[in-house]
Amino acid sequence: MSPKRKIALVTGASSGIGAATARKLATEGVIVGLAARRKERLEGLVTEITGGGGKAIALPTDVTDPASCKAAANALIAQFGRIDVLVNNAGQMPLSSVDSLKVNEWKQMVDVNISGVLNATAAVLPQMIAQHSGHIFNMFSIAGRKVFTGLAVYCATKAAVTAFSDGLRMEIGPKHNIRVTCIQPGAVKSELYDQITDPTYRKQMDDLATSMTFLEGEDIANTILFALKSPPRMDVAELFVLPTEQGW
Ligand code: NDP
Repeated sequence: MSPKRKIALVTGASSGIGAATARKLATEGVIVGLAARRKERLEGLVTEITGGGGKAIALPTDVTDPASCKAAANALIAQFGRIDVLVNNAGQMPLSSVDSLKVNEWKQMVDVNISGVLNATAAVLPQMIAQHSGHIFNMFSIAGRKVFTGLAVYCATKAAVTAFSDGLRMEIGPKHNIRVTCIQPGAVKSELYDQITDPTYRKQMDDLATSMTFLEGEDIANTILFALKSPPRMDVAELFVLPTEQGW
């Protein structure tokens, strides 16, 4: 599938990997629907993309709410008639030890990292099925492959959606001609660590950031583009992308 003139919905587009992906897709001629909660961030990105000759629209969305995801997908369909790409990227990672019982943060991760992926997928799938084409990207993590202390719940959410991604690919590839790509990055520079309320884990992550060169959001965006530009017969099912200096 050529990315030219395609329509994409990117969740978590207000910062980090999602914003970088939206910028990259726009420079490739893709019309991008920017979905996240922070409206002013989305509007700023629309201005930036439009100023660079691209096209994007702000779609304030809470992925934990199925109706909000459906409204974002419907707005894109109403304006452009189709959805070719979904980037399921919204995510949260407030790290803590299990015995500190930060149950609200656990729920937040389950709601965004698992339910959010399911909600956004459900929102676009009928349109992609009707088109008999589409490409769904799921932004998972090295944390879906390995377990780390302090990340027990986060790892559980990423492992759950890694399994979902593979099952989704097996079901909708052959039947509906929809490709599914699971991206598993290592450490990427973003705002993800800002949500960590546990001072020990926050320091641990800040120290990590000074100990090696993290990937940039743009590196992950380029990875997405590689899979998107591959020929229609080819589904890049999984990509594990790490900083060269990441020794774990
Ligand atoms: P950021 O914190 O910069 O971005 C997270 C995005 O998710 C923001 O745009 C945020 O927007 C959005 N988001 C959070 N909650 C919701 C919600 N309820 N509804 C809609 N959007 C939401 O972090 P990253 O760019 O790093 O994270 C992007 C993805 O990459 C995540 O899934 C993360 O788990 C994954 N990842 C990141 C790695 C890293 O090292 N940075 C490594 C591996 C994977 P807003 O607050 O405006 O709603």
